[in-house]
Amino acid sequence: MDLTKELETAKTIARMAAGICQTIQAELVNPAEKSGREPVTIADYASQAIIGHALAENFSDDAVLSEERSEEFMLLLNDKQRSLVQRFVTDALGGYVFEEQVCAWLDFGKQTQAERTWIIDPIDGTKGFLGLRHYCVAIGLLVDGEPVLGVLASPGFYSDSEESHDDPGALTYALSGRGAFMEPLAGGPPHPIEVSEISDPRRAILLTSYESGHTDLSFFNRVAEVLGRGSDAPARALDSQDKHAMLAAGIGDTYLRVVPEPGFREKVWDQAAGYAIVKEAGGRISDVFGQPLDWSTGRHLENNRGVLMTNGHLHDKLLEAIAKAGL
Ligand code: AMP
Ligand code: MG
Repeated sequence: MDLTKELETAKTIARMAAGICQTIQAELVNPAEKSGREPVTIADYASQAIIGHALAENFSDDAVLSEERSEEFMLLLNDKQRSLVQRFVTDALGGYVFEEQVCAWLDFGKQTQAERTWIIDPIDGTKGFLGLRHYCVAIGLLVDGEPVLGVLASPGFYSDSEESHDDPGALTYALSGRGAFMEPLAGGPPHPIEVSEISDPRRAILLTSYESGHTDLSFFNRVAEVLGRGSDAPARALDSQDKHAMLAAGIGDTYLRVVPEPGFREKVWDQAAGYAIVKEAGGRISDVFGQPLDWSTGRHLENNRGVLMTNGHLHDKLLEAIAKAGL
């Protein structure tokens, strides 16, 4: 199975969609009113429309699972917001785009049943996007029930890093059996990435959500305590699948996500692209009970609770600590 064209297309459209998000952020996000929903909504739709357009052009037989729908686009957005989306998509594609086309691209592949399913988060980390922190455009491809391709376009990847980077953005990607790579978002040579070697959980950098409502912080702290980690043990809280990219690149060592409500099930577009990349970079992945992720259940991971991704060396230790900490 040669997925070179799929990877190259996904890289190009992820970059393009991230470019639109950056433009919208620069034009519409007023730092004094960071909580406004409008720029997020506009950017979500514009980004998903661009991605849907490219998938429809290149892979018209494939299925798609993605967050936004044209019905809501028409219902929730006012005329001004819809015409802004139309303008950003028109500018990006370089030819006039009608509202009907935006709607068709938003819904592309949603009714299709196929062996291949693209899994799209047009903006992963919407709160990070608004707060001028981390966010990314996430594109994954499921073939026969397994994510085999992942692309993450992360405009703010190095923005809070201590090292200086000419380009604060990163493009992280992987194709099953072909390695995982990272390159500057603005373009430049790729370098292969792999997970870290750290096996001492007291020294490991634990990656977690920035938003306390997205993961169970008290559970996370109990796990850290069972692992014997002191208050100065390294941890890092950030939005989006930039966490998965950091784990894959050895910048962090574990990623643990459990939402407090026992009935909560993870959305596939929050995990699929990152899963393919972490796996290809040598990481190990399961739910918090050690079960493999089951990708056969549609928009949510219905048969799994939470997600644990590690560099492999730490996996069993984390699973043990999770069991001891008690959910
Ligand atoms: P994170 O980047 O770890 O903060 O996770 C971001 C993802 O959390 C988003 O893409 C949403 O799908 C999901 N999310 C949003 N609100 C909630 C919530 N209240 N509880 C759990 N997950 C959420
Ligand atoms: Mg998301």
